[in-house]
Amino acid sequence: MHSLAEDSTAPGPGFVPADRVTRLGTETVFAVSAEAAALAAQGRTIYPFHLGDLNIPTAEPIVVAMNKAIRDGKTTYCANAGVMPLREALAADVSAARSVAYTADDVSVQPGGKPVIGKWLMAAMNMGDEVLYPNPGFPIYASFIEFVGGVAVPYGYVDAGDRYAIDIDAIERRITPRTRLLILNDLHNPTAAECTPEELDRIAEIALKHDLLVLSDEAYFDVRFAGASESIVSRPGMQERTVILYTFSKKYAMTGWRLGAAIGPKPIIDIITKMNVNMESCPNHFAQYGALEALTGDQTGPREMMARLEGRRDAALRILNDTPGVRCHTPESTFYLYPDVTGAVRLTGCAGHEDFRRLLLDKTGVSFCTRLHFGKAAPDETEYHLRLAYSGVTTAQIEEGLGAFKAFIDSTEPAES
Ligand code: PMP
Repeated sequence: MHSLAEDSTAPGPGFVPADRVTRLGTETVFAVSAEAAALAAQGRTIYPFHLGDLNIPTAEPIVVAMNKAIRDGKTTYCANAGVMPLREALAADVSAARSVAYTADDVSVQPGGKPVIGKWLMAAMNMGDEVLYPNPGFPIYASFIEFVGGVAVPYGYVDAGDRYAIDIDAIERRITPRTRLLILNDLHNPTAAECTPEELDRIAEIALKHDLLVLSDEAYFDVRFAGASESIVSRPGMQERTVILYTFSKKYAMTGWRLGAAIGPKPIIDIITKMNVNMESCPNHFAQYGALEALTGDQTGPREMMARLEGRRDAALRILNDTPGVRCHTPESTFYLYPDVTGAVRLTGCAGHEDFRRLLLDKTGVSFCTRLHFGKAAPDETEYHLRLAYSGVTTAQIEEGLGAFKAFIDSTEPAES
């Protein structure tokens, strides 16, 4: 038989990746997910705290609306920027919640929130531009900045006693004459940090002073238990220079639907829509009618989801804060916890984040991500953190899984120092 292996000895054309591919990163969270799935397939009981996905189905009225749309023949291409009723509904919803005025012209529907990151960078960033981004943070920022020839400049978060706070001093310190863009993820993955109004004021001042364009990743804007979210776009002068990353994934439990939007000034939104033309022509036509129902219909589904998530958060916090060497703030938004486990890592004699993750996965079946799945640790970082997503586990799983986690740490004899 003619095999590829035989051919490989002969010179000939083979696949050689483009140079830029060496700069393309990934989301290692998905590798943790695959590892946990493999263990579960072997019959191990696994408690899945690794992925920001939901074990709550999309609400029934949304599914009904999509099914109706498909029966009504919404199976063709649609407008490149998405269907007009959805763009209008998004403009109205986002304007009202942020006290600003957008119209449908300022909205380009996307196949998820994630594509907004790459499209915004390609629309606004030149080769060699410096882009400030959060680290720890969503790993796609640095990946895509570098992929398209920019320079990714990290800023961090500080422990402010009862919450994490964005390190605004670090943002200021890292600005150079080449800095042109800033990525902000208020209501932050993974720390759940949220800016105070004064912190948002300060960031807006910095953006204006240094003439920075801003991507405001608002994936978790509506995922909150108390209080109200604020957006940088509501600060004077900021709407003109900011693109909002909007997503249906989290608030409406629609991760697999792949629907989000870029919302911002028409000139950049038009470029992003031109990228739609080049890449996917348009977002999925009939799915947009499900999203329209999500935005404009009965909000019982999202409200019930938030109540369930709050119960899970509280159950997880109770156990974590009762575990030796573990300390965790109480966030009012996102569905992530970012406990400081420095003491527990030391107690177990682990060499670092990955060692601790593997040990606990092996001994307890609790699968989680660590700080290292959200960027490289800074040289001066001495603490260890985990990221626990409670969106994909039941309260019973939290009690059982984190109960085993606590019992394991409780029973550990302090390591020799
Ligand atoms: N931004 C942040 C901060 C996220 O956590 C996520 C999802 N994990 C996204 C954007 C993208 O989500 P999606 O593409 O599902 O809208």
